[in-house]
Amino acid sequence: MSIKKIVPYGNEVLRKKSKEVSKISKKIQTLVHDLLDTMYANNGVGLAAPQIGENLRVFVIDVSTGKEPLNPLVFINPKIIQKSGACSSYEGCLSFPEAYTDVKRYAYVKVKALGLNGKPFIMEGHDGSLLARAIQHEFDHLDGILFIDHCRSEFEANRILHEKGLQSIEEDKLLSEPEIEEALADIPSNPGETVVPEKKEV
Ligand code: ZN
Repeated sequence: MSIKKIVPYGNEVLRKKSKEVSKISKKIQTLVHDLLDTMYANNGVGLAAPQIGENLRVFVIDVSTGKEPLNPLVFINPKIIQKSGACSSYEGCLSFPEAYTDVKRYAYVKVKALGLNGKPFIMEGHDGSLLARAIQHEFDHLDGILFIDHCRSEFEANRILHEKGLQSIEEDKLLSEPEIEEALADIPSNPGETVVPEKKEV
């Protein structure tokens, strides 16, 4: 098991659709351990296989953010089987060091996946929690979707990218998310409390 180099934005591996895992072989077990080692070494909340150069449908998450006990979660061939609501929160990505932006996500997701033992499990992320958002962020990576694609406009995406010396967003990558926009519009603009944005790279 080893700490791998994280594939930076601009590498086409990050834009490819990843393939399902057919068997939890020794290679997949090593991949999972490499993902965990690399995520922890970089203080990340999550890491997807394409980020260490493997276009396979595998990601890991740990929302304990370095506090003991660690709680590594492994998702192999994940499927999002339910989603609802909306939230908006600051997000980063280990493939875009120090670039952050507000990202709209579903507030609730239910995911079905295989664990490292090959057994299926179901997990839910509620109320726009770090877990709910991390699942969506990592799941996106498996389809070649990056957090920057969720920006409201190309101008906004490029402002963030250029600030960090990164290349412009590729044409037609911005997502249209009417379902999330609609749900966000229903949330009162003044909830009566100030939310301090969490800066987490996933
Ligand atoms: Zn990421």
